[in-house]
Amino acid sequence: MKIFRAGDIRGIYPSMVNPELGRKIGFAFVKLLNKNGVEKPRIAVGADARLGSKEVREAVIEGIVSAGAHVIDIGHIPSPVVYYTTVTLELDGGIQVTGSHNPKEFLGFKFCGRGAEPIDYDNGIKDMEDFCKSGKEIVSVPGGSKEEKDISEDFINFIAGKTKLSKNLSIVVDAGNGIAGDIAKRLFERIGCKVDCLYCEPDGNFPNHLANPLEKNTLRDLQKRVVETGADMGLAFDGDGDRIGFVDKRGEIIIGDVLFSLLVEDTLKRSPGSKIIYDFICSKTIDDVIRKNGGQPIVSRVGYNFIRKLMRKNGAELSGETSAHFYFKENYGYDDALFAGARILEILCNKNLDEFIESLPKYIVSDDIRIACKDEKKVLVVDEIKKHFQEQNVKISDLDGVKVFFDNGWAAARPSNTTPVIVARWESSDQETFNRIGKFLIDIVNSYIEKYDASE
Ligand SMILES: [Zn+2]
Repeated sequence: MKIFRAGDIRGIYPSMVNPELGRKIGFAFVKLLNKNGVEKPRIAVGADARLGSKEVREAVIEGIVSAGAHVIDIGHIPSPVVYYTTVTLELDGGIQVTGSHNPKEFLGFKFCGRGAEPIDYDNGIKDMEDFCKSGKEIVSVPGGSKEEKDISEDFINFIAGKTKLSKNLSIVVDAGNGIAGDIAKRLFERIGCKVDCLYCEPDGNFPNHLANPLEKNTLRDLQKRVVETGADMGLAFDGDGDRIGFVDKRGEIIIGDVLFSLLVEDTLKRSPGSKIIYDFICSKTIDDVIRKNGGQPIVSRVGYNFIRKLMRKNGAELSGETSAHFYFKENYGYDDALFAGARILEILCNKNLDEFIESLPKYIVSDDIRIACKDEKKVLVVDEIKKHFQEQNVKISDLDGVKVFFDNGWAAARPSNTTPVIVARWESSDQETFNRIGKFLIDIVNSYIEKYDASE
């Protein structure tokens, strides 16, 4: 498994990600900032609530201090709080120890630079990888220091100050025993909601369900609880609070495309004509809604580091991903499910969700279909598929893998950034075409994988 990845570091705890790696990462992160001209960096360090998070967080802090830098230890908090701290305390960088939405065996690191600027493989993670793999020992530098700070109240105040609910809502929050429960409860109570908490106590064993609202089966208890208690809606957060799930008052799951559409319409009312970024595999719904509301759509590669960079480059007001990560310029351009949740509640105070969904263009979009393909082959296979279509003179986009446009839909195949799979996704406005495109796409991916396997 590749642990130094396009946008973050992630692996199994403790065999791959452990205190030893944590110390090296802390040290190497300071060296990276030194190389970029910051002599004695000030760095925020936080962590989620996984089994190894505490000891790895402590090790990261040790590593940073031993490199002569200053740590602001903000404890166990959602990832967006690290970005928020880095921006508002004008720090030089931030590190969050987190396994995000992954199963409990996982742990890793997310990073940001000044102003919560994204740090990805090319502008930092590779440097850290080189140091960690070099076998070099940490050579302590004097002058390092650390302090502890509870930033949660500031963070809550910041979001609450930007949120105005025009009625009292009763909501259920399911934090899946990740780290977002406590802050979510305090935030939503602060803005005037009655909050019923489900699995808001952090527990790294995730005894109830995986903290990943993108997997529909993790929302079952939330759906039930909303209906049982007659709440207005339910919100779910992933393990580190940057991905959101949503359930309406009938207990129905509201998919990310609908949430994104709500946010698009609202953003274009606040900032008419602004730029909005969506990822390569988003439903055409999003492009339609942006254009209908007078916005300028921009397409990004899949992955939060690509989106965040593109957002800064273009000064976009809002970005969203199919995986229900939302980024607001108003919120410094990082993904924050708590900010997004508060904004969605504000919008829904004045909007009938059923009517809104009815007004959206109707497309049938598949889930991500993940087809196993070895890491070293996945890019080659997708390239072959791209060549196949280029030869046929059909309209394609190769921004991220390949996307083929048909009269009445599209099909996309791309190598996963993170796992040995090719991710297939497709969409059409009618069921028959949808079925046809799906079968065609899966067949072509499988046939090129087989071809490569046979040539081995
Ligand atoms: Zn996450």
